[in-house]
Amino acid sequence: MNFSRLLIPTLKEEPAEAEVVSHKLMLRAGCIRKLAAGIYSYLPAGLRVIQKVERIIREEMNRAGAQEVLLPAVQPAELWKESGRWDFYGPELLRFKDRHARDCCLGPTHEEVITDLVRREVQSYRQLPLNLYQIQTKFRDEIRPRFGLMRGREFIMKDAYSFDADEAGAEESYRAMRDAYVRIFERCGLEFVAVEADSGTIGGSFSHEFMVLAESGEDAIAACRSCGYGANTEKAEAAAGHDVFPTGTEGALELVATPEKRSIEEVTAFLGVTPKAVAKTLVFDTDKGLVAVCVRGDHEANPAKVKNLVGANAVELASEAAVAQATGAPVGFAGPVGLTIPVYLDRGLEGVGGLVVGANQADAHYRNAVADRDFTVAGWADLRVIREGDPCPRCGVPVVVKRGIEVGHIFKLGTKYSEALQATYLDDQGREQMIVMGCYGIGVGRTAAAAIEQNHDADGIVWPVPLAPWEVVLLPLQVKDEATRTATEGLRAAIEARGVEVLVDDRDERPGVKFKDADLLGVPLRITIGAKGLAAGVAEIKERATRAEHRIPLGEAAEWASRWVVERRTR
Ligand code: ATP
Ligand code: MG
Repeated sequence: MNFSRLLIPTLKEEPAEAEVVSHKLMLRAGCIRKLAAGIYSYLPAGLRVIQKVERIIREEMNRAGAQEVLLPAVQPAELWKESGRWDFYGPELLRFKDRHARDCCLGPTHEEVITDLVRREVQSYRQLPLNLYQIQTKFRDEIRPRFGLMRGREFIMKDAYSFDADEAGAEESYRAMRDAYVRIFERCGLEFVAVEADSGTIGGSFSHEFMVLAESGEDAIAACRSCGYGANTEKAEAAAGHDVFPTGTEGALELVATPEKRSIEEVTAFLGVTPKAVAKTLVFDTDKGLVAVCVRGDHEANPAKVKNLVGANAVELASEAAVAQATGAPVGFAGPVGLTIPVYLDRGLEGVGGLVVGANQADAHYRNAVADRDFTVAGWADLRVIREGDPCPRCGVPVVVKRGIEVGHIFKLGTKYSEALQATYLDDQGREQMIVMGCYGIGVGRTAAAAIEQNHDADGIVWPVPLAPWEVVLLPLQVKDEATRTATEGLRAAIEARGVEVLVDDRDERPGVKFKDADLLGVPLRITIGAKGLAAGVAEIKERATRAEHRIPLGEAAEWASRWVVERRTR
C-alpha cells in the first residue's frame, strides 16, 4: 500500500486532550479520531491493528471450540427486566424508546440476549456444552470516558458465553477459556498476568482478570513474589490485626472539640495521635440503604467489598446531603457513636481498642470510642483495600502492588442468568435442569492501547510484530528517481510475494519527515532505499524496537526482511 494514497493523518504536536501515551500516540500516528467523548473513528492504520487483535482472538476462540455469532446491539428492556438488571445497571446503560414508546437499550454486554437465545434453542443435554462468542460494538455510558480506546463509551469487545450441563462441565469450559486467553495475550506480544478478581455487576461466583502491566493502568494488582498469588486489590483479602497500634479500652468516651479538623491528617495532627488509632467513617449509599463503614485512619475503604458484604447491586459514597441527614453533621465529622444506620467495622481495626472517631456534630470528635461499648456494630468484615507491604493472603509474605490494565475478564456465572431467565434443559433422565453458564470478555481496542502502553519510545509506537498495521515500511528517499523507484517496486513485489505486509512511503517529502512518521507509526522493520545504498547495491534495514541497523545486499533484502518478520509472528 502507498502512504500517499492512504488516510494516515500523522500529527507533529502532542494532542492536548490526551493524558496517557497510548491515546497520544494513536492520535499522533493517525490511528483514531474522536467524534464525541469516548466515541472514536478508526482510521486505516488503527483499524488494521484492531483487525489483527480480532484475528488472533478469532483463531484462539475457534481453536478452543467456541462458535462465532453476532448478536443485536439494540436490546429490548423486557429481557433486562427479567434478569433484574434494568433497575440495577445504573446510568452506564444507555436507554431509549423506539417509535412505539418501547424501552430499549444499547447493549453494554450480552448475558440477557444470549441466554434468551439459548433458552429457546437448547432443550436437551445432547446440545450441551455450547460456547458462543461475538466481536461487536458495545456501548457503556461511562461516567469518565478517557484515555482514548482504553475507556471509551462505544468500544469493540469480544464476548463469549459458555453453557454447560453441570458445574464440572462449566469448570472445564472456564479452564478452556482461561487457556485461550493466555494464548491470545501471548500472541499479541503482551506482558500480562491473570489475577483473581471481583465479579462486579455481571455477578457470579468466580472470576479472573487478565492484566497488562503498565504504570498508566487504572487497576491495582496485589502480587506475591513468594507464592505467586495475584489479585485485583479490589478483591485481595486484607489481613486483620496487621501492624496494630493498641490503645487499650479503659478510657471513658470523651468529646473533644476539633474545630475545622476534618481530614485524618488534620485530626491526627491536632490531637497528637497516630492514624492507626483513628477510625474514619464513610457513609455508602447502596440499593439496600445507607451503611456506615469504619476503617483505620491509614487504611482505605473498599467499595467492592462493602457491596459484597451487604449484598447490594450498586454502592457509592453517599452525597454530602445524605451524610448530613444520616449523621446530623457535615462531612468530616461522621462517626459510629449514636448512628442509626448499620455500622460495619473493618477487621483492620481489630485489637486497636479506644478509637478517635467523628462525633456526628460539627467541629467535634470522640476519643476512646470502644466498639460494642460506645456504639453498636452490625458486623466486622474485611472492608479495606490491601496495600503494599500487607501480608499475602496465601502465604503471609508482604505483597507488592503494581498497576495494570484489565484487557480481559472471565467469570463463572453459575446459574444466575439461567435461573432469572429460566434457561433449562432436560437431562438424560428427562429431568429439567438449570444450564450452568460462564462469560468471557476481551476489550479489543483496550488491548491495542495496552500494547502501546507497553511498547513505545520517545519517537512513537513500537508495535509488537503480530499487531503492527504493516510489517515492513519501504522508504524510498528520492521518489522521482527512476532507479529508486525500480528498486522499491522490486522489493515491494518480492516481500509481498512472501506474504508480508508492506507500506511504501511514496510521498514526495523530506527524508526527515518520512523517518519520523515511520517511527511514529511503529512499523517493526524499515527499509531505506537511497542513492548511496543503491550505488553500493545495499538496502539499509532498521529494526524499530532495537534500532539495530543492517546493510543487506539488495538482492537478498526481501528474503531477509520477510524471514525476520515471519519469525516474529505468532501462531
Ligand atoms: P472496567 O473495570 O475497566 O470498567 P469491566 O469490569 O466493566 O471493566 P467487563 O464488563 O468485564 O469490564 O468487560 C470485558 C472487557 O471489556 C474488559 O476486560 C475490558 O477489556 C473491556 N472494556 C470494558 N469497559 C471498557 C471501556 N469502557 N472501554 C474499552 N474497553 C472496555
Ligand atoms: Mg466497567
